[in-house]
Amino acid sequence: AESNGNGTLESYLKLPQIKFTKLFINGQFVDSVSGRTFETIDPRTGEVIANIAEGDKKDVDLAVQAARDAFDHGPWPRLPGVERRKILMKFADLIDEHTEELAKLDAIDAGKLVHLAKIMEIPEAAETLRYYAGAADKIHGETLKMSRELQGYTLHEPMGVVGHIIPWNFPSTMFTMKVGPALAAGCTMIVKPAEQTPLSALYYAHLAKLAGIPDGVLNVVTGFGHTAGAALSSHMDVDMISFTGSTEVGRLVMQAAATSNLKPVCLELGGKSPFMIFDDADVDKVAELALQGSYFNKGEICVAGSRVFVQEGIYVKFLIKLKEKVKNWVVGDPFEPTSHYGPQVDKKQYERVLSYIEKGKKEGATLFHGGKALDRKGYYIEPTIFIDVTDDMTIAKEEIFGPVMSIFKFKTVEEVIKRANASKYGLAAGVMTNDLNIANTVSRSIRAGAIWMNCYFAFDRDSPYGGYKMSGFGRDLGMDGLKKYLQVKSVVTPIYNSPW
Ligand code: NAD
Repeated sequence: AESNGNGTLESYLKLPQIKFTKLFINGQFVDSVSGRTFETIDPRTGEVIANIAEGDKKDVDLAVQAARDAFDHGPWPRLPGVERRKILMKFADLIDEHTEELAKLDAIDAGKLVHLAKIMEIPEAAETLRYYAGAADKIHGETLKMSRELQGYTLHEPMGVVGHIIPWNFPSTMFTMKVGPALAAGCTMIVKPAEQTPLSALYYAHLAKLAGIPDGVLNVVTGFGHTAGAALSSHMDVDMISFTGSTEVGRLVMQAAATSNLKPVCLELGGKSPFMIFDDADVDKVAELALQGSYFNKGEICVAGSRVFVQEGIYVKFLIKLKEKVKNWVVGDPFEPTSHYGPQVDKKQYERVLSYIEKGKKEGATLFHGGKALDRKGYYIEPTIFIDVTDDMTIAKEEIFGPVMSIFKFKTVEEVIKRANASKYGLAAGVMTNDLNIANTVSRSIRAGAIWMNCYFAFDRDSPYGGYKMSGFGRDLGMDGLKKYLQVKSVVTPIYNSPW
């Protein structure tokens, strides 16, 4: 009953067993060299779930050495793509077989909804591996007819040893969207999961081994950012870093890369995305989408549409509808099938979100809904809406990463484009209108990596994600997400006496 997800309510509510708590290096679960551990906390209660091996520089050195060996001498990068494809497909099947357990691990570690993880996040993590498995045997370069005397071709080769540093908000999605394409490309790697959410990453390492991924190809070093993460990004033997996290830490990672071996970095950073509603929009539909845009995953999502711009003709109608609908949002235990969202990931984020709410009030925004923590154990916060927000307020500019929506009124298309673009971030945007000309004009004008027209969070693994401006550079998912793990080599040969 555990594995297929269709068990009784009792099995549904049952907590998962914690099987893996050690570092995964060279195909083995091992203690950290220092012997130290750190606590991973259940945000539903604030209590300790397990003690996890705390990797630091020495452990990163061992993991990099294993990955280096596996790249320089092992079979993985040398296998025909079709062989890597088979193993990745097996890995995906194993994820499907353990959906319920993985969903529950993310629920207790990150406060994610079990029912959603079971039908969405975990199955889609498996699908992401299959997507890249399908690409593994279709990696090829071009032939170049250069001149009468020269011809050539390009080889697309794996980048080498990759360091993946990932955040806590989507532990399973992040793990597979980083590891899937890098494995398909033939790279070897070290994953540094967020210290808040190490559990599922270690479970994936175990499944990878069962699937037949050779030792040393995929290593997982749990630990903190300023130690394990920093050691990885400044390592002389790591060929590339793929990072997702805050803009602040992205800058540190890029600095570390620059002052070590000039490894390329790919940075997926923060956002403050505009959700723009025009007068002709269907109020019922856009109110629903706006709530999803701000509260999905408790607002802990980099592409949250947390700046809601509403055109003046629909403004009052929209607020009435929003109020009516937000009352139905249930904040509760992520194991309860009725919950719309669970607790914030940890005490630090919880306090940070609450301090932004205080700042919003202090700077003169009107609290239209919510604004408080729930009166219960754990890190739960009400869905919160501010109106009368001005562009210069802190809550209008900074990423809150919690269930807080800010509403702005606008008059013209030109005005909303200008205000929406007046952000240091450029990750995503939503455009709600049936007027094709407005939709297309706004889409071309907004400087962001993803535009959703009359939808929001319309994710698909075939659609690349990434930022403009200080939201970073490089793309995850799609074929662009694979290309970044490949080097392009030009091979040129002379040709003699050719009439062509
Ligand atoms: P964070 O930057 O604090 O942490 C991300 C990862 O970096 C963690 O694994 C952490 O341990 C590590 N880290 C911390 N300090 C480090 C250092 N000095 N060197 C190397 N690694 C270090 O971010 P967070 O608070 O965990 O996540 C929230 C942020 O992530 C938000 O800003 C959010 O917008 C962003 N995010 C972006 C995307 C995207 O696709 N653009 C997706 C999800 C989250």
